[in-house]
Amino acid sequence: MLSIGQYVRAQSLEEAYTLCQKKSSVVLGGILWLKMQNRTVGTAIDLCDLGLEGIEETEEEFRIGAMTSLRALETHPGLNAYTGGAMARCLGSIVGVQFRNLATIGGSLYGRFGFSDPLTLLMALGAKVELYHRGVLELEEFAALPFERDILVRVILPKTTKGAVYRSQRNTATDFPVLTFAAARRPEGLVCALGARPGKARLFRDEEGILAGGITPESAETFGRWLADQAALGHDLRAGEEYRRRICRVLARRGLLELAKEE
Ligand SMILES: Cc1cc2nc3c(=O)[nH]c(=O)nc-3n(C[C@H](O)[C@H](O)[C@H](O)COP(=O)(O)OP(=O)(O)OC[C@H]3O[C@@H](n4cnc5c(N)ncnc54)[C@H](O)[C@@H]3O)c2cc1C
Repeated sequence: MLSIGQYVRAQSLEEAYTLCQKKSSVVLGGILWLKMQNRTVGTAIDLCDLGLEGIEETEEEFRIGAMTSLRALETHPGLNAYTGGAMARCLGSIVGVQFRNLATIGGSLYGRFGFSDPLTLLMALGAKVELYHRGVLELEEFAALPFERDILVRVILPKTTKGAVYRSQRNTATDFPVLTFAAARRPEGLVCALGARPGKARLFRDEEGILAGGITPESAETFGRWLADQAALGHDLRAGEEYRRRICRVLARRGLLELAKEE
């Protein structure tokens, strides 16, 4: 059970940041992950008064407040038009609608969970995170950092990709994923992300130029095999390494062929 000593609705980001420097403090998102933990917290810091909920779309980017629910991202017409439906596909398998109405994007990214569906897709899309203290950094860089006491303010998604796909494999619908795969066309070329390896998502680029001549059934198959050989895959209670390797080839091939259809 999660036990909370003191509950504070922060009135500024500075107040939230100062409070969260204490080891016994915790920042609250939707509390869905936190409530699973057996721990006692000194001060629980609620960000709900800071206007961090909502998605703004401009010509250049999407700005997604940390307290925005996963469901709001999943059903956002602009985000889905931009990602060709990959956003809805990525989030739609996470537990259920009521759950996704509460889980926040801030809580989902701050934990940098290995199993994270949104971490995988947003990384492939080249998203950035804005942290109150550290500032703006690439999600890829943030994912690699050790845990720090900071506040995730918003996610910035520049509109620089053309076409995206998302695929995951689950042992049963709505379970944690066994493997997640996302790919997007960036100006510098195709980038894909692989998560639930079971480690956290990592980016891969077409370093060998396998897809340089275009995505065909043959090149997609070859790329899938290359990716499965490159990626550090492992074993956990959901799947073994060899199974993940096989699934990786399939997800990558199918994902790439879907991306090719969008051309
Ligand atoms: C049963 C279950 C199944 C799940 N299945 C999946 C799944 O299949 N795929 C998937 O991707 N995810 C899954 N999740 C994770 C879920 O989608 C959320 O990511 C998770 O609940 C965290 O979101 P939250 O808003 O509830 O955050 P919280 O539980 O409130 O917080 C999580 C962590 O983030 C910190 N935090 C929250 N907001 C901020 C902020 N703005 N700045 C700094 N730190 C912050 C908190 O201090 C805490 O350490 C699952 C979770 C549960 C409980």
